[in-house]
Amino acid sequence: MKILVLNCGSSSLKYQLIDMDTNDVMAVGLCERIGIDGRLKHEAGDKEFISEDPLPDHDAAVTAVMNALLDKDHGVISDISEIGGVGHRVVHGGESFASSVIITPEVKAAIQDCSKLAPLHNPANLIGINACEKLMPGVKQVAVFDTAFHQTMPEKAYLYGLPYELYEKHKIRKYGFHGTSHKYVTQKCAELMGKPVDEINIITCHLGNGGSLAAVKNGKCVDTTMGLTPLAGIIMGTRCGDIDPAIVNFLMEAEGLSGKEVDNIMNKQSGVLGLSGVSSDFRDLDAAASEGNKRAKIALDAFHYRVAKFIGEYLVAINGADAIVFTAGIGENSGSTRKAICDYLSFLGVELDPEKNSQRGKAQMISVESSPIKVYVIPTNEELMIAQDTNRLING
Ligand code: ADP
Repeated sequence: MKILVLNCGSSSLKYQLIDMDTNDVMAVGLCERIGIDGRLKHEAGDKEFISEDPLPDHDAAVTAVMNALLDKDHGVISDISEIGGVGHRVVHGGESFASSVIITPEVKAAIQDCSKLAPLHNPANLIGINACEKLMPGVKQVAVFDTAFHQTMPEKAYLYGLPYELYEKHKIRKYGFHGTSHKYVTQKCAELMGKPVDEINIITCHLGNGGSLAAVKNGKCVDTTMGLTPLAGIIMGTRCGDIDPAIVNFLMEAEGLSGKEVDNIMNKQSGVLGLSGVSSDFRDLDAAASEGNKRAKIALDAFHYRVAKFIGEYLVAINGADAIVFTAGIGENSGSTRKAICDYLSFLGVELDPEKNSQRGKAQMISVESSPIKVYVIPTNEELMIAQDTNRLING
């Protein structure tokens, strides 16, 4: 069975075709500038194909993906019927979805309903779903939600200290994101530890351009750092993370800005980019800091400190942990980041193996055997997780 995994944004569409017998990625690609002009980049093994044919809408993008997959030269299938199902990444499932589901008209209505919580993402996800329904009639489609893994959080974790009526009326609460990644590395960590997933207590750190931590007790999420939106939690590449909420009003008055403008600053001009004035990319920050750039150093220090503080918080939330897992761009690649964060935990006896911490791309334990809380690096694979959920739901 081959599963097509789609991640639709408002002007982009990322895809992978995965062979579920081997978990091999047969083809991977990206449509960009949908509705503007259009660009498709497709890779299958060592073959690469780039097209700049116009992509006026998502129907055109899905058609272009189909054509690329079927192409005699760089294609990987000979008939659409070889695709057994389509798994869609859907950003917000609100309180309606605690796991992945086969898409029905009711599911689409619920995704639409959650659009007010993710106005940039859910409408684009729905457009992708509708395009596939139109162009691949009869092929089952599955929605895999970024929020689903976090739906096991208890009320005490997800409720904000706001009037309860606002939760009832607008569903203002913590939802959390990157759930597919946190779930994937939780399962992998259980495998590496040789334990059933419902017996592991871990803290997962997804540190990419956007980042979040999850506290996982007996395999289930009990807390996470992102909130109603992906702006909350740790300091990120360009997002501010947790700040005093009164700063929003203060800035509106002091700078004469609208709410939208403040939102834009907090999402796009803050985080390590805003602090350093150098870059949102940790490779640039490392380089600048080692050349003596003080603000780059402060940005990195603030990032490490915030992540370590949340680990401390979550050690309390789950009464001590078996392991801490690092994943995503920074978590998987930056040994210096992992070291700086784990140094804060040395009073607990946490100790990294420097040799293992310097390696990349491998799922493994990077702490010394005697470390009471083990530390792992586990490369995330959200696409495989989406494909596996899709396969499971379609084939029972
Ligand atoms: P997202 O999916 O949120 O865009 P990724 O998980 O791809 O993010 O992570 C991207 C980030 O990973 C980059 O911004 C960069 O800071 C970081 N990164 C990638 N490689 C390295 C590296 N070798 N050292 C430090 N940071 C790295």
